[in-house]
Amino acid sequence: MSNQLDILSFDQWCNKGQQPLIISGPCSAESEEQVIQTAKQIEALGKVKIYRAGIWKPRTRPHSFEGKGEEALIWLKQVKAQTSMKTAVEVAKPQHVELALKHGVDILWLGARTVVNPFSVQEIADSLQGVDIPVMVKNPLNPDISLWIGALERINDAGINKIMAIHRGFDFFKKSLYRNVPMWEIPIELKRHFPNLPIIIDPSHIAGKRELLFDIAQKALDLDMNGLMIESHNNPDVAFTDAAQQLTPENLGKLLNQLVVRREKGNFVFQHKLEELRSEIDKLDAELIEILAQRLNMVDEIGRYKLHNNIAIYQVKRWTNILQNRLEIGENQGINTEFLMKILQLVHKESIQRQTQIYKDLEKE
Ligand code: PEP
Ligand code: MN
Repeated sequence: MSNQLDILSFDQWCNKGQQPLIISGPCSAESEEQVIQTAKQIEALGKVKIYRAGIWKPRTRPHSFEGKGEEALIWLKQVKAQTSMKTAVEVAKPQHVELALKHGVDILWLGARTVVNPFSVQEIADSLQGVDIPVMVKNPLNPDISLWIGALERINDAGINKIMAIHRGFDFFKKSLYRNVPMWEIPIELKRHFPNLPIIIDPSHIAGKRELLFDIAQKALDLDMNGLMIESHNNPDVAFTDAAQQLTPENLGKLLNQLVVRREKGNFVFQHKLEELRSEIDKLDAELIEILAQRLNMVDEIGRYKLHNNIAIYQVKRWTNILQNRLEIGENQGINTEFLMKILQLVHKESIQRQTQIYKDLEKE
């Protein structure tokens, strides 16, 4: 994963200025009236640059509403004519791309169900050869960053250089507060890997319900993400799809007004103090690693000693005691138990692995 994407910077093609890019619109285009009315109400907020609407809906079960198809593209054309917003739709196959282009859609996106399948992504990429249109790529349903990067690369290899990623959370079998678990470490890693790739957060599909939207949206801005895609519908309660997570344009306006946009860089004094604090963190991390190395060396020594005395590597009692004792210490220090537990388990796993290696190596001799 070392290649860089050949893309234009966000400011070059899209977001002039520092504000996060706001994309909104209904989950699905349902009727001409719903599309136009919602668009006008959203535009009146003065904050939304791109109007989204699902035209072809990937549904889990057949015989449910699968989108209005080409007819709805005519409604989106009217949105463009009657408002200042650009339009965006999801495309899942080359035929969708062809129709969206024919009807003047401004931006395309690949949905989470498409991105899991490299064949589908490649087909769409092939259909985009020679076309100059921005493309947004949602994360795949499963938390596989390589699959996400692969899709971004396929689109980029087709010559598309206006690309954004959309983080919409990950689908888990396990019950959770969220419809799709955010796992923020994944978009953060994507940003670290491709610093110039804009990342838009989709709180609607992460949340699955209205009550959670604000916190997710604020968190996105706190993490310096580049924008938000939030579903909005003129009458969400009767929406054909994703009713529980859509906001009225009015409530969307309230949410956007409450958001605090953080500055990437503060003033000189702030920046100076921040650097100081960061250098403290750098020192602490170095010490942590040094101590970890010392601990692992000690583990090796114990391993050799156990082997010498023909003792089994793993002793449940010892491990139970370690866990109990360390979690207690951690709790007294105000460290989250679940977090500490994960670290201890990782260290334990590595320790066993090292001692196993020692047994193998020394027994060979
Ligand atoms: C959508 O944006 O309406 C949608 C279907 O999203 P996702 O692909 O993230 O599930
Ligand atoms: Mn939706």
